[in-house]
Amino acid sequence: MKILKFGGTSVANPYNIRKVKSIVEKNNSEHIAVVVSAFGGITDLLLDTSRLASNQDPAYKESLKQIEDRHISAIRELVPVRAQSTVLSKVKSDLNTLETLLEGSFLIGELTPKLSDKIVSYGELLSSYIISEFFKSEGLDAAFKDSRELIITDNNYGKANVDFERTNANCNAFFNANADKITVLPGFVAASKSGNSTTLGRGGSDYTAAIIAAAQQVSLLEIWTDVSGMYTANPKLVKQAKCVSHISYEEAMELSHFGAKVLYPPTIQPVLGKEIPIAIKNTFEPENPGTLIAKNNNGNGKTVRGISHVGNISLLSLEGPGMIGIPGISKRFFETLSLKNISIVLITQASSEHSICVGIADEDVDVAAEAVNDTFAYEISSKKIKPVIVEKDLTIVALVGDNMKSHQGLSGKMFSTLGKNNVNIRAIAQGASERNISAVIKKDDVKKALNSLHETFFEENIKQLNLFVMGVGNVGSKFLQQIRQQKKYLKEELKLNIRVIGISNSRKMVFDENGIPLKDWESLLANGEKADKQLFFDQVKSLNLRNSVFVDNTANLEVAQSYPDYLKNSISVVTCNKIACSSDYAYYRELKELSKKYNAPFLFETNVGAGLPIIDTLKHLIASGDKVKKIQAVLSGSLNFVFNTFNDSVTFHDVVKQAQEQGYTEPDPTIDLSGIDVMRKILILARESGHQLDIDSIENESFLPKESLETNSNDAFFESLKKYESDFQAMYKEAANMDCKLKYVAQFEDGKAKVGLQRIPKGHDFYNLEGSDNIVLFFTERYPNQPMIIKGAGAGADVTASGIFADIIRIGNF
Ligand code: ADP
Ligand code: ASP
Ligand code: MG
Repeated sequence: MKILKFGGTSVANPYNIRKVKSIVEKNNSEHIAVVVSAFGGITDLLLDTSRLASNQDPAYKESLKQIEDRHISAIRELVPVRAQSTVLSKVKSDLNTLETLLEGSFLIGELTPKLSDKIVSYGELLSSYIISEFFKSEGLDAAFKDSRELIITDNNYGKANVDFERTNANCNAFFNANADKITVLPGFVAASKSGNSTTLGRGGSDYTAAIIAAAQQVSLLEIWTDVSGMYTANPKLVKQAKCVSHISYEEAMELSHFGAKVLYPPTIQPVLGKEIPIAIKNTFEPENPGTLIAKNNNGNGKTVRGISHVGNISLLSLEGPGMIGIPGISKRFFETLSLKNISIVLITQASSEHSICVGIADEDVDVAAEAVNDTFAYEISSKKIKPVIVEKDLTIVALVGDNMKSHQGLSGKMFSTLGKNNVNIRAIAQGASERNISAVIKKDDVKKALNSLHETFFEENIKQLNLFVMGVGNVGSKFLQQIRQQKKYLKEELKLNIRVIGISNSRKMVFDENGIPLKDWESLLANGEKADKQLFFDQVKSLNLRNSVFVDNTANLEVAQSYPDYLKNSISVVTCNKIACSSDYAYYRELKELSKKYNAPFLFETNVGAGLPIIDTLKHLIASGDKVKKIQAVLSGSLNFVFNTFNDSVTFHDVVKQAQEQGYTEPDPTIDLSGIDVMRKILILARESGHQLDIDSIENESFLPKESLETNSNDAFFESLKKYESDFQAMYKEAANMDCKLKYVAQFEDGKAKVGLQRIPKGHDFYNLEGSDNIVLFFTERYPNQPMIIKGAGAGADVTASGIFADIIRIGNF
């Protein structure tokens, strides 16, 4: 004999019920019992309806009407007309009884647990009867059997306890004498010794099937549901979750106890001792092998087999100096909870015995807190123990696996994964069996926690990065284009799955939690909502995605001031905006500290030399113990372009204009021409070399007349360049006559920095610098005479975008 159980979704509508029939039909060689749930959603609807009725809300009638319609229309679709009238009249009579029960509750304004069970049992009673009649009408050798005649419980309504002795005897007597090939039974429902309807707890149809399976010692229990087995995590929350093909009873029990709803936790108990395997199968993909739960099925030494979570948890803690070394405190604490029938999901106790902390269902916590405070009223009044502390709206996340005990470092990996993603852990518990490690976290962090843990333990190093990009001008749009081009390569070769979740420019912003399709970003952004920097941050924060990165492609002060908000939420920051690193030293330090404290990289490689790996190289030098003695550099791609292009056959004005038009200057060209941009860069290099420096201490001999520097618009600035053309020509000739080229040079030595135009003679490293190239010479303890030289294109949207890209990849490898 074999037992097949079909859950709510599998029998939600006539279309699905036909699928059930075709699965049942294939088992034509042996006797089977088919246990069914209520039609999907009906149990919830029955509970809602009875709540409305007992609150004396007449709306219960509409709700009841929905229940009636679902069943009547199923009969009309499934049962042929000739057989309909008997089925309809039986079901209508049941629905009338249901109506009477609800009416009673409405009139008295009360709903006892006993009445609630009676009402809710109609879900399974009706579905199983209708399905059995449908099977019969299709020519199957099927009959209905009311589980209440077999499964006997106590009268703990809502979650009754089974009397196995009587239940087993009933099952044996019935099935041993039963000739029908297929017996259809309602799941979830049972009867008390005095004959009242009881239920086995939400999700309890699985349990019904297991009880019958154990009583009859069947060969296999099949649980047919809406997913293809037990997954490494709830597939509805973790897209990358994978089906676990084999799993041990203990592992399955632990996963279901910690929230893997696919199996109701008590289900394993009856079949475990008899070693009856359980197959979890998908009604909508019957060919899929699903999961086999059996003895010793614990996955060839694999450590973590699944990650699950239980929501709606509260922590209740009892602490105080009066608890140390006093025997009996724990006993009184747990006894109090047990007397109130409160089940404990998790326990932690500090080794000092200074505190006991338990995780229990949110709905129980108020009663529990009051009861514990009563029990310890004397100790509380004499200040030996503090009144209990309650924290609500938490969730337990658990790693489960039989082989976890033989591996060190799993909990470290678990907690560092959560820590890196700014998931605050409220309590930790590890079962003595070491089959699970659980952490209690905030409800809002669940999705992020599950996904990041899944990535760490199951995804062979594929890491998802979630980007929020602000600024899509020259650099930003090139950056998005590069990501789009490289997406496949990054995933396959670097195991990085990069998604852009938010984009903003100064006018609009757009978000898509599943990733913005990059081929359409421009139109999606154009149709986005009004841009707002604060709302952008709020949205990034509330999406709360793992490995979030804020990318600043602007040159905006306010944006640069928002980095602490991101870093404090463990959101990494990548920026080509130089303002943050070149403003107050204190602010620069603060950002570095926040980055360290919250484990969120803060990277700004493109602040100096665009895509050239200058800062990264410097960091490596310092980290490996080298010391910078001197830095000499040409750091302005814009100025280099200007002085490489300028000669006696063009005007200085035209050359600067051309540089601006080709994107080689900042939007405001005076930032480049005045040397401010270079000052910022040498400042950043000096700071990254470990020196505390501020911009005012940098010497700057400007080659521009004062008047040009003090203009207040781009137009005025360009006009002033025309006026001083002869001075610029003189500057050029003077250098040319000496066989020198003009280069704007930055230098840092002995803790001091200066910038200015210099005449560079032939043979100097700087002399042959082309176009908008940059060059940096690092003289260090290890490179005292022959400096380490980094040279290459140092300006332009394309190379800057690729520098940002490189920072993103660094974060991926973090
Ligand atoms: P049924 O009505 O068939 O009993 P349930 O809704 O009770 O189905 O259980 C199936 C659901 O369990 C799945 O749809 C899935 O959302 C959820 N679930 C939670 N954790 C897991 C897991 N680890 N593996 C598979 N499903 C899970
Ligand atoms: N119908 C019941 C519930 O929804 C039992 C079950 O489906 O397992 O909880
Ligand atoms: Mg279920």
